[in-house]
Amino acid sequence: MSAPLIFKDYLGCRRCPLASSRQRIVWGYGNHHARLMFVGQSPGAEEDSSGRPLVGASGQFLAAVLRALKFDLDSEAFRTNVNHCHPPGNRQCTPAEMKACRPLLEWEIETVDPDVIVALGAAAYKALLPEEKSPITAVRGHVFVRTVCGRERVIIPALHPAAVLRNRPAHERAFLADIGKAVKIARSGKLVEETMALPFRRTPGTLKELLQAAQADIFGFDLETTTGIDEGNDLRWARVIGVGICAEPGNGIYYACDPEQAPIWQGPYLFGLHEDLTPVVLSLRPGAGAGARGETASLP
Ligand code: SF4
Repeated sequence: MSAPLIFKDYLGCRRCPLASSRQRIVWGYGNHHARLMFVGQSPGAEEDSSGRPLVGASGQFLAAVLRALKFDLDSEAFRTNVNHCHPPGNRQCTPAEMKACRPLLEWEIETVDPDVIVALGAAAYKALLPEEKSPITAVRGHVFVRTVCGRERVIIPALHPAAVLRNRPAHERAFLADIGKAVKIARSGKLVEETMALPFRRTPGTLKELLQAAQADIFGFDLETTTGIDEGNDLRWARVIGVGICAEPGNGIYYACDPEQAPIWQGPYLFGLHEDLTPVVLSLRPGAGAGARGETASLP
């Protein structure tokens, strides 16, 4: 069920100066048992009018990105802000204002109890990962596992959708990849620590060795790619010119395409190389077929 989540202790709150500039407190909204939570900085003017967080152009963009991943923002996620009242002129909230509203945010996290929290924008990133000193542009998409409100959760910083919309298409690909990662982890129900990470050392290998490594039940892989944009139709494309597969820690096989020959795969990509090209690697298994959008060149 999608509904606002109202904290009785904060009804009519006047703990910080933002109480004077708001029309209403904008409570967090969505599924109260969501595995995935989005946290922004503060409500904008539209949110202040409607009483719901992330309903303006930013929210619509985020909802569209999630729809493409077959994930519904309203019914499957929960969304809120570090500060719950609209600051005048959309200014940054002060540290004192953020501190005053912190118990409300923590209550929301404890109540909804999400596995994955996406910090949208620098203010949310600083609020949720105060010990990190790098700018958000350096750490966006990184997966942090931190104890927040009583238990370990995944925190993924991402650019705020408003910043992405202001700087499209430069930031769009990164945003799609970061949101896709958050959805994937939330759906898996596992913290990243529980998933397998294989240290990768590139050792030039033969095609036969590469195909053998691809038969393992679990393997990690890396793709060597070149990318570009078709000027005529603005379509992003990728070419896979090398594949590395690692089925044992520290023992990866890397197969490079002969530069004189056709790439291993080429075609358009939309959500990020990892998501779009995973089928290319899986197609190395006998009888798997190539499921990726594009053309799989015959391996020499
Ligand atoms: S921003 Fe938070 S602390 Fe400040 S008045 Fe609104 S609800 Fe209260």
